Amino acid sequence: MIILTLNCGSSSVKYSVFNTAHGTMLARGIVERVGLTGSFISHTVGTHEVKIEIKCLNHKVAIEHVLKLLVSSSDGILENITEVNAVGHRVVHGGEFFIESTIINEEVEDVIAELSTLAPLHNPANLQGIQAARDVLPKIPHVAVFDTAFHQTLPEYAFRYAIPSRWYDEKKIRKYGFHGTSHFYVSQRAMQLLGDSMKKSRIISLHLGNGVSITAIKDGKSIDTSMGLTPLEGLIMGTRSGDLDPGVILYMMRSENLSPEELDAILNRKSGLIGITTTSDMRDIEKKATEGDEKSHLALKMAVYRVQKYIGAYTVALGGLNAIIFTAGIGENSPTFRNHVLKDLEFLGIKLDEKANKKAIGGKEDQIISADSSDVKILVIPTNEELVMAQDVENVILRRNIKIP
Ligand code: ADP
Repeated sequence: MIILTLNCGSSSVKYSVFNTAHGTMLARGIVERVGLTGSFISHTVGTHEVKIEIKCLNHKVAIEHVLKLLVSSSDGILENITEVNAVGHRVVHGGEFFIESTIINEEVEDVIAELSTLAPLHNPANLQGIQAARDVLPKIPHVAVFDTAFHQTLPEYAFRYAIPSRWYDEKKIRKYGFHGTSHFYVSQRAMQLLGDSMKKSRIISLHLGNGVSITAIKDGKSIDTSMGLTPLEGLIMGTRSGDLDPGVILYMMRSENLSPEELDAILNRKSGLIGITTTSDMRDIEKKATEGDEKSHLALKMAVYRVQKYIGAYTVALGGLNAIIFTAGIGENSPTFRNHVLKDLEFLGIKLDEKANKKAIGGKEDQIISADSSDVKILVIPTNEELVMAQDVENVILRRNIKIP
């Protein structure tokens, strides 16, 4: 099948086109500054990238531009847009309603809209993209793929917060977790790569990008994850605080008279690495730390320590550990960060092969970086959320026996 995947933000549309028969990506790109002046598309086929300035009022116009490019004589990859069999839409929050990818109809759109209260920055933009794409491509199936779905297997004792029950009963305040497609994909790949030794699999996957999360995966199922009701909980991220005593928020609200909007901006955009230093970019932080910059050194140490604490906690949650996976920008490209995280954990049976670790950069291929004597396998697996989306779309269509034109 030829599948178009869309990931719509408030002012951007990321897209990719897959041929699922070969698992190959035919094209990918991003429309930036949707609804603003100076909109443009960066469109990549293979290693060839073109950047085209466009006028782009809204998501519908953005998607129309993308479709035109896909069949253009110079940069196109299809003869006719009818070759696209289905569209997969990334949706950030599926709440407790969606435990797997789902064919989109009006009812599903309504639920995604209702769930906007839980993800006010993401679900409305995702929905705008869905509505625009269904308008432009009305004859083919559209499938929603949820960031939260993989974590719907968490047991209640892990997903509930110790707050008044009414908050959960009436408002569904609980841990949901995110980056589900990434954690699912890399854990499946690890199980394939390690084969028989993974029959009883206790895996920790570390998605270390700008957003950072860690998941405990037992026999293929997520049993705990670090992000919560929102992506703010858990590890230290590029611009998000991660775990924090809620008392800090109350204290700062009172002492500086901060509004919810101001707090939101501080905790989501001005905290984490950028809060401690002046950059959210791990490359800069690693470089400055080696040059003796104290704040960078501290930020690195804090981020590493938080990851180590979670590895300890999740090893207990899993009742042991067979494999650790590193993925996303930092996980795939930073031997330094991986080394800092793992070097003191030999008492857990974790032993890094330093040479293999140094070589595992560039996010191109799956690599095993544990020493032969390590009880716990350590893997670097480039994440491929778009491919998982495309495969999921195909699975849903085949499972539900949906006819494609
Ligand atoms: P996003 O969550 O936006 O998809 P990415 O997965 O692209 O983020 O990860 C971005 C992070 O990866 C940034 O902190 C960046 O500095 C870091 N990163 C990328 N390459 C390297 C590298 N070679 N060494 C250290 N960090 C890296």
